[in-house]
Amino acid sequence: MTKRSSNRDAFETRAIHAGQEPDPLTGAVVTPIYTASTFVQDGIGENKGFMYSRSGNPTRQVLEACLADLEGAVTAIACPTGLSAASTILELLESGAHVVAHHDVYGGIYRLLELVRSRSAGLDVSFVNFADPAEVEAAVRPDTAMLWFETPSNPLLEVVDIEFVVKQARRVGALTVCDNTFCSPYCQRPLEMGVDIVMHSATKFLNGHSDLLAGVAAVSPNTDPKVAEKIRFLQNSTGAVMDPIACSTLLRSLKTLPLRMERHGSNAQAIAEFLEQNQDRFGISKLIYPGLASHPQHELAKRQMSSFGAMISMEVDGGQARADKIAQSLRLFAYAVSLGGVESLVQHPASMTHAILPPERRQKLGVTDNLLRLSVGVEHVDDLIADLESVLSGIE
Ligand SMILES: *Cc1c(COP(=O)(O)O)cnc(C)c1O
Repeated sequence: MTKRSSNRDAFETRAIHAGQEPDPLTGAVVTPIYTASTFVQDGIGENKGFMYSRSGNPTRQVLEACLADLEGAVTAIACPTGLSAASTILELLESGAHVVAHHDVYGGIYRLLELVRSRSAGLDVSFVNFADPAEVEAAVRPDTAMLWFETPSNPLLEVVDIEFVVKQARRVGALTVCDNTFCSPYCQRPLEMGVDIVMHSATKFLNGHSDLLAGVAAVSPNTDPKVAEKIRFLQNSTGAVMDPIACSTLLRSLKTLPLRMERHGSNAQAIAEFLEQNQDRFGISKLIYPGLASHPQHELAKRQMSSFGAMISMEVDGGQARADKIAQSLRLFAYAVSLGGVESLVQHPASMTHAILPPERRQKLGVTDNLLRLSVGVEHVDDLIADLESVLSGIE
C-alpha cells in the first residue's frame, strides 16, 4: 500500500491514487512510461525488482495495482486485449475440462470457446441460459471446472444472479469467471459476491475513449492463492502483457472512470425512460434496460448493481430495413461496434457483433434482425434525446 492509497478511501479517490506515488526520481505526479524491454542487474540475482518487461514492467505494475484495488482483487493482470485476458484465464484449465458458459456471451468469447479451445484444448463447453437458475443447476456436473458468464449479458441485457451461480460452482469446486465489461467495478463488484475471477475488455468502459485495446483478469483474495499465482505465471508464459504506453493511457482513463460511469448511467436511465414513454409512437416493439421497472429482472439488478450502466437494447417495428435506416440516420450515435466510450454508439448485433453465431442460434437467443443496441455516451442528455426523437419519430 502506497502513502496516497488507502483502502478506506472511496472508489472515486482510489481511481485516482490507488497504487500510485509521485515518481521518486523526479517528483512527476503521473506514473512515467518505462518502455525499456530489459533492466540492468548489479550481480547474480541482484536487480531493482525488474529484469525483462514481459515478466514485469514498472508502468504495468502500477496499473495492475490500481486495477486490483478498484476490483477488490488480490492480483490483476493487464493484457493486450480482452480476448487475450480471456485466453489466459482459460489456460488455468486442464485439457478436456468441462466448462458451463452463458449462452449469450460476447461473440468473441463464444468463438474462442467453441471454435478454438474446444479443438485445441478439448474443452467440453455446455452453453446454457444463466438467467435461468434451473438451467445452471442442471448443467453443473461433478467434474465441471469453470462457470463463465456475463451480467448483464450482450446484447439482451439478461441479468444473472451472481450469488446463485457462485453457490452452484462451490458445490463442485469449480471456478467462476464473470466478464464485468458492461459494468466496470463502479457498477458491479462480482468478487465481493464470491466470484473467483473477473475479466474485462478494458477497451470498453475502463478506458472509455475508444482509443485503446486492453484486457484485465483480476483474482479474488478469497480464492485459493494458487490461482492468483498461476494467472501471473500464465501471463508471463503466454506473453499476454499490455505494452507500457497502453498501460499509461489506461491508468489515466481510470482516473475519470467514476465520473464517466455516473454520467453514462444517468444518461442511459433518462433515455430508457424517454423511449419507454414514447414506445408506441417510436415503433419500438421491445425495450430492454435493467434500470427500468419493466425489465424482468429489475429487482435482481437493483440488488447486485449499484448503477445500471450505459447499454440499452431495443427491437424496432419494420424489421431489419428500418433498424438499419435508424442506425444510419442518428447524428450523435455513431453506427459502430464496441461500447463504453464517451461518444454514443449504435450497432446492429445480428450483422455486427453477433454475426459469428449461426442464424438459428441467433434466432433462438432472440438476437433478431430488428434489434439495435445503444451504448449511451456522456454527451448532454438533451442532445441525445433530441437525436433519438427526430429519427425514431421520422422513420416509418
Ligand atoms: C469487447 C468485449 C470482449 C473482447 O474484448 P477485446 O478487448 O475486444 O478483445 C469481451 N467481452 C465483452 C463483454 C466485450 O464487450
